[in-house]
Parts: sequence; C-alpha cells; structure tokens
Amino acid sequence: MVNEKKTRFIFYERFAQFFIMNKKQKAKIIVKILNTIYPKTQIPLKSKNNFTLLISVLLSAQCTDVNVNNVTKNIYTKYFKPEHFVKLGRKKIEKLIKKIGIFRIKAKSIYLMSKQILEQHNGKIPRTFEELEKLPGVGHKTASVLMSQVFGFPAFAVDTHIHRLAQRWGLTNGKNVIQTEKDLKKIFPKKTWSKLHLQIIFYGREYCKARDCYGLTCKICTTCYPNRKKAVITKKA
Ligand code: SF4
Repeated sequence: MVNEKKTRFIFYERFAQFFIMNKKQKAKIIVKILNTIYPKTQIPLKSKNNFTLLISVLLSAQCTDVNVNNVTKNIYTKYFKPEHFVKLGRKKIEKLIKKIGIFRIKAKSIYLMSKQILEQHNGKIPRTFEELEKLPGVGHKTASVLMSQVFGFPAFAVDTHIHRLAQRWGLTNGKNVIQTEKDLKKIFPKKTWSKLHLQIIFYGREYCKARDCYGLTCKICTTCYPNRKKAVITKKA
C-alpha cells in the first residue's frame, strides 16, 4: 500500500514537472520567440554621441521616443556637448524642450548634469553605475541603459513596461521595478540582458500593451501557459 502511494506520488510529480514549466524554461522560450521577431535591436532614441543619448534617455521619462526624437532633431545639430548646455543655461534649455512633459524639471537636470560632467568628469560621461547615478536626473534605469547600450556592460534596465510583461509571463511577483530587475537577472543569462531590454520594450509596444491583453492570446503566453484560463491582472510598479 505504502509502495503504491509512493509510486503514484512519483508519477504525479513527474507528470507535473513535464507540464508545468519552470521560470528558466519559460525564459528560454521567450528569448527564442523574441529573437525571431526582433533579431536585431537598435535603440529607438536618436542621438549624435553618447552625451546626447544620455540627454535623450533622460527626456524619454514619461514621454514617447517619437516625441523625444522630434524635439531633439532640431537641438543636436547645434548643441551636443556638455559645455553647449551649460552655456545655454536653464531658461534656454526649457524653451528648446518645452514640447516634452515636465520640461522644467528636465531642463534643470540637463543643465546641472552637463555642469557636473564638465566640472567633475572632464566633459566625459562616467563609466560606473555609482558615478552615473550621482548625476542630476539620472536614476538607475537611465544609468543601466547607458551602461549596456553605450559601454557594453551587462545591465538589465527595467521600466514599468518590462515590469508589466514580466508579471504577465509569470517571471516575477515583484511589486516594483527593483524586485523585477533582481528576478529577471536570476532567470535570463547575462549575455542576453542588453538585447532583451529592448526586445521586451518593442514587444510591449507592438503586442503586449498596457490595457490590451491579459495573458491569453499570443504565442508566448499560450506556449508557456497552455492551461491558463483566467486573465492575468498585473500590479502596477
Ligand atoms: S498573450 Fe497577451 S499578455 Fe501574453 S505575451 Fe501575448 S500580448 Fe502579452
């Protein structure tokens, strides 16, 4: 009797293991699908050099990349070095970026950041998280984008969109982007982080929009969760 129960238990456990994928298995499927849809990734923000990319990333907070590109295309032809923005001063920077949300706060950050880069880093963008995050207006996400996309350091910048998709894909239960970043870094191999950051953002924009889907429609969810019946409601970061 005991042996029969034990055999049944082992059978059910193996059965469950076969049908319930763990997070790393799901991650492999997700990488494969994303690599098929987005084999090449290019950062959608236009820039003239690393410094202007930093500015564009800063401007993109709570603003679309298209809007940022529309505004910066007229700025970077003339102003593209820290000294240019220090010389302009806050008020003139405000005028240049006034079509972008929270432009006064962003203008102040651009001015102070340019000043700090000039005075403390000889006009060059620092290459460590610690120094980058000390720059005015530069948070962990912006620093991660710079470290990965410019300096080639493996970093996984997680924003609210990546947070939403990671929850729908069952890869995290994190209540905020910090926890989600930690969870994703444990699941995905380091070498995939930089590309994945962009691939997940692209996929979120194209297919997995904030209000359009609840985890029951496309290949990623139907492959990873063949038995899912109920909509997945994500927690906001
Ligand atoms: S099924 Fe919906 S939630 Fe799942 S990946 Fe596709 S679009 Fe996103």
